[in-house]
Amino acid sequence: LFRGFITAAPKETDMEFRVGTAELRIPEGFKGVLVKNLYLSCDPFLRSRMREFYNSYIPPFTPGSVVEGFGISRVVETNDEGFRPGDLVSGLTGWEEYTLITSTDRLRKIQVDEKIPLSHHLGLLGQSQLNHARMPGFTAYAGFYEVCSPKKGERVFVSAACGAVGQLVGQLAKLHGCYVVGSAGTKQKVDLLKNKFGFDDAFNYKEEPDLAGAMKRYFPDGIDIYFDNVGGATLDAALLNMRIRGRIAACGMISQHSLSFKEGIHNLYMLIPKRIRMEGFIQSDYLHLFPQFLDRIGDLYKEERIVYMEDTHQGLESAPATLAGLFSGENVGKQVVCVCRE
Ligand code: NDP
Repeated sequence: LFRGFITAAPKETDMEFRVGTAELRIPEGFKGVLVKNLYLSCDPFLRSRMREFYNSYIPPFTPGSVVEGFGISRVVETNDEGFRPGDLVSGLTGWEEYTLITSTDRLRKIQVDEKIPLSHHLGLLGQSQLNHARMPGFTAYAGFYEVCSPKKGERVFVSAACGAVGQLVGQLAKLHGCYVVGSAGTKQKVDLLKNKFGFDDAFNYKEEPDLAGAMKRYFPDGIDIYFDNVGGATLDAALLNMRIRGRIAACGMISQHSLSFKEGIHNLYMLIPKRIRMEGFIQSDYLHLFPQFLDRIGDLYKEERIVYMEDTHQGLESAPATLAGLFSGENVGKQVVCVCRE
């Protein structure tokens, strides 16, 4: 359960884990489905829903209510003719073992492919037909191809590069023929970026007191594309290193989520002399590309031309701490909670 609104980074104690019993059937008069939750997705946007005044596309949580997020579930009972018992679905569900879902437009049936792990439907192939869906794989795809307007040979910088979105952005950029450098917060992640995800180079931003200087080392001729997942000091330093007519895709600003006073950006004036295009985006603006994305990314994965890494925690009771860990960089890859494998 979500306990109440917060102003700092989420902590395990901001959520309450309760053990209880409930009848496992659809109550009379209820129209919808009863699902058993298998996997839950931990996403940065959940923190935004813990803020009372949140002027955005999705309302805040109600204190005392079950935490709601994306998940993969199996339909147990249904009186909605669009679903059958046994169907595997992805979409908005509760952080609980079983959830009654009225708004079945929140759910999408998963086309199971034995070559793709089921949990990848939360990260790599995250799918939902909701307008406010925020799924990492599609975010990387839409953000890189549509917002960054990449060209072969361009120099690409990705922050939070080892995360759910970042790892795919870097790999797509490599496949596009770009030079790619990522930043991340641990040595383990830096090694993964170079040795598993195929980035040309990577650095630990926490060990770089002069971020702008570090970027200059990796991009002596400047950055054409910055895929920004973090905002704050990293964005400020990137602005100084952008090339003329560079593009910044403002995907997320996780460094700012938990600050009551957002950090100021000092180098925004660089947009003018360098004619930089900086564009914020929400992946759901590009839902028309979703079928194409599923085919292309699914094929790339099955052909082993891309890899996708998940960080899976076992058990519903691990979910609060797992979500909190996103904000201190504990996740190595897409953060998933496995509630039950069946
Ligand atoms: P990640 O899997 O990348 O997890 C978050 C990572 O952010 C952490 O692992 C940590 O990695 C890094 N981080 C946490 N706090 C800070 C900080 N203060 N400063 C710098 N880095 C920090 O998450 P996602 O891939 O799911 O999301 C990445 C970004 O994309 C988020 O900002 C999210 O809000 C945004 N997003 C945007 C969407 C859109 O449609 N525009 C859709 C989905 C996500 P590290 O070790 O590198 O510090």
